[in-house]
Amino acid sequence: MKAIAYTLLSGAILISCATKKQKEDSIIVDRFADVQVLKLEVKSWEKLTPEQRKYAYFLSEAGLSGRDIIYDQNNAYNLRIRKFIEKILETVTKEDRSEKNWQLFETYAKQVFFSNGIHHHYSMDKINPKFTQFWLIDICAKYNIKYEDALISVMFDPEVEAKRKVKSPDLDMVVASANNFYGEGVTQEMVEKYYSERIKPNDPEPIEWGLNSTLEIGADGKLYENFWKSGGKYASSIQQIIYWLKQASEVTENYEQRVALEKLIQYYQTGDLRTWDEYNIAWTQAVKGDIDYINGFIEVYGDALGKRASFESIVQINDFEASEKMAVLAQSAQWFEDNSPIMSEHKKAKVVGVTYKVVEAVSEAGDAAPSTPIGVNLPNNNWIRQNYGSKSVSLGNIIAAYEAAGGPAIVDEFAFDQQEIDRAKLYAGKAAKMHTALHEVIGHASGQINKGVGQPSVTLKNYASTLEEARADLVGLYYILDEAMVSMGLIESLEVGKAEYDAYIRNGLLTQLQRLSPGQNLEEEHMQNRQLVASWVYEKGKEKNVIERIEKNGKTYFKINDYNALRVLFGELLLEIQRIKSEGDYEAGKSLVETYGVNVDPELHKQVLERVAPLNIAPYNGFVYPVMVPVYNENKELIDVRLEYSQNFLEQMLYYGKKYSFE
Ligand code: ZN
Repeated sequence: MKAIAYTLLSGAILISCATKKQKEDSIIVDRFADVQVLKLEVKSWEKLTPEQRKYAYFLSEAGLSGRDIIYDQNNAYNLRIRKFIEKILETVTKEDRSEKNWQLFETYAKQVFFSNGIHHHYSMDKINPKFTQFWLIDICAKYNIKYEDALISVMFDPEVEAKRKVKSPDLDMVVASANNFYGEGVTQEMVEKYYSERIKPNDPEPIEWGLNSTLEIGADGKLYENFWKSGGKYASSIQQIIYWLKQASEVTENYEQRVALEKLIQYYQTGDLRTWDEYNIAWTQAVKGDIDYINGFIEVYGDALGKRASFESIVQINDFEASEKMAVLAQSAQWFEDNSPIMSEHKKAKVVGVTYKVVEAVSEAGDAAPSTPIGVNLPNNNWIRQNYGSKSVSLGNIIAAYEAAGGPAIVDEFAFDQQEIDRAKLYAGKAAKMHTALHEVIGHASGQINKGVGQPSVTLKNYASTLEEARADLVGLYYILDEAMVSMGLIESLEVGKAEYDAYIRNGLLTQLQRLSPGQNLEEEHMQNRQLVASWVYEKGKEKNVIERIEKNGKTYFKINDYNALRVLFGELLLEIQRIKSEGDYEAGKSLVETYGVNVDPELHKQVLERVAPLNIAPYNGFVYPVMVPVYNENKELIDVRLEYSQNFLEQMLYYGKKYSFE
């Protein structure tokens, strides 16, 4: 797993604090189309030394300097259209801003900024402007704003540049995709042939072929890679990136960080993917310090052929308190294994924990902004992961913002009584974080497969991921209501565990259905797993009324009557799913998933959709970031960096457009 997307987040988004109005108002800074923009708060900043803040600032500048690259990668017209939009936003005066067309234009502008281009960031379909072409042409004439005619047709003609990434076995995906990773005239067949001639299938340490170049046809008619590097494509942005990385390398927290940064600079200078691998090894090994970052061409989701990577950058600060807790978890991994309700022959004699840090994002750019992942696990190159490990982080302040913005209304609607609402308000945020940590640090690392039984992908086939996610969730659910968690100082009271049980059942049986359209069944593995777990314990506990289904005023609620009995049921299901994995029992795994995790009750689904609709919750979230303000002394030396939370979304986009436009 690379970038961990928002939609994969466990119950967390659907729960939490119910101090609704004032909290929402302060955290939601903009709302347009299908998007809400949240304010990103960074509490750890004040705990850093001025020297550390300088380091974070230089890294942030290095990231933002690559902002133009993502626009150009997404589509060849994006930068010109963005600049056209910026010009209009800056030029048109108040008297022409009250009209309906202006409002529609402003919404379109925000959508383009949010998506880093003219295609929707998630569906990849071209965004359809709602203002009229005539209005646009008129307003440009009135204010004497010049533009190329081609831009108008790219914006308005639905046939032109229709979809950023087209993934279909029936089409030439290179030709059909509107992204800008391949030059004029390049076909899918040409690309495939080019790489089949170069990639050696038995190479134990392969580079990430194609990661950092545009594949073009040269003057001699042959394919060549136009590398993104100093002196190559995107050279002016990359020059800036290198400049700031050099500044950063002067103020690193330790030697390992400096070694890594110097490799990264060397890679940007040469474009050599072997150097990129060396950099990733150095970066993976630089685990000390409070500040970390990612910067580069990293994820390949934007390319239908999965070769060329989008530019992105995240700068993050260790969340000291939360990471300390996670360290306690990781250190106690053996205790958790020994005390797990699974069969003793399925327990690991020696558990190797996972390195996992909770961090606060302070700056994001390129593909990671304004829409962001909630966690990152890198590097991507598999042989490096196997030989050198990987770094896994959870972006705690992003998750907290989602909870504060999206959760309260849902809890109010679906929680059965005030007690459940109050508990969510007090504990659900902490509960979700702790459950996620247990899931990652203890859950996935626990248990062992019997000798002679193959890997789950072979034995459990298409059910392997759903069952694995269920297994990890169940480890978390079993332990979050354990007294030992309180005595280890991981949770303040068992109320945290109860809040997680409430949230998990509510989500698994009701609220997650809001993501499906009528008639759909569950396909996504995390959603399948959550319903599997919730409906299995509901069924098995029916006789003793562990979870009660209550109908009130035409609304369905699930109320937990006996938390300890529910914990026992979670333990029983964990034992069974661990057995299935350890023994490779395909039939039993299939039966569990198919019986409990796939089918949706259409009546209940309809009810959930009707209850969610009036809450007007935006399906997509993004962020406006704090501005880093350098502080100089009388000799004009940089001595510190302050954070300011002054900009709204549009102001920030225009500010970035001015300050970080190098292409
Ligand atoms: Zn997982």
